[in-house]
Amino acid sequence: MKSKILVVVTAVVFAAMGVFLFTRPDNPAGSQAGSKLELDDQPVMGENDAPVQVVEFGDYKCPACKSWNQTVFPMLEQSYINNGDVSFSYVNTLFHGEESRLAALASESVWDRHPDAFWSFHDTLFENQPDNQSHDDVWITPDALGEIASQLDEGPEPAQLVEDVEQAAYEERVNTDQALVDENNIELTPSILVNGTLMEDPFDWEAIQAAIEEELEQGA
Ligand code: CA
Repeated sequence: MKSKILVVVTAVVFAAMGVFLFTRPDNPAGSQAGSKLELDDQPVMGENDAPVQVVEFGDYKCPACKSWNQTVFPMLEQSYINNGDVSFSYVNTLFHGEESRLAALASESVWDRHPDAFWSFHDTLFENQPDNQSHDDVWITPDALGEIASQLDEGPEPAQLVEDVEQAAYEERVNTDQALVDENNIELTPSILVNGTLMEDPFDWEAIQAAIEEELEQGA
C-alpha cells in the first residue's frame, strides 16, 4: 500500500515538473520575445496588422542610423514590408542632445500634419545628415529643418514646420517616444526590435531575416 502511494506521489510530482518545464518562459529575464510593442500614434509603414512588427529606435543625429536607413532598411522594405509581412515603425530616441530633440519635434509635426509625407521627410532628414560629421558639427536647427522640408515635393509647409519646432508644439509626442525608450531599456541607436525582441546587431541582416522568418512561422 505504502509503495502504491509512493508511486502516485512520484507521478504527481513528475507531472507537475512537466507542466513547469513546458510553461516556463523561454527567456526568464522577462524580455518580451515574440510580442509586439504597443505603439500609439507612431508612424507605420506597411500593413498595420502585419504578422511581424519591426520597430527602429533611431536618432536623426546618429550616423549609424543614417547608415542603417540607407543600407539595411531598403532590404527590409523590399523583402518584407512591401509584401505585407512586416509593419515598420520609427520611434524618436534622443541620445545626441538638442539637435536630436529638434529633429524629433520636426518629425512629429510632419507625422501629425502630413502623415503621407512622413517617410519622405524621414529619408530626406537622413540624406541631409553630413557624412563624417563630428559631434560638434551643428546641422539641425529650426531653419535647417524648414529648408529640408522645402526639399520635398509635397507635405510640410516650411514656415509652419519651423514654427512648430521653435515652439516645441509636439513636445508631448517626443516625450511619449522617450517613455518607450525607457520602457524598453534602449541603450543604443539604432535599436531594432522584431516583435519585441532586440536584435543584437542592427546591421546583421541575416539575423534580422531569421528573426522575421521565425515569427512568420510561429504566426502561420
Ligand atoms: Ca513618435
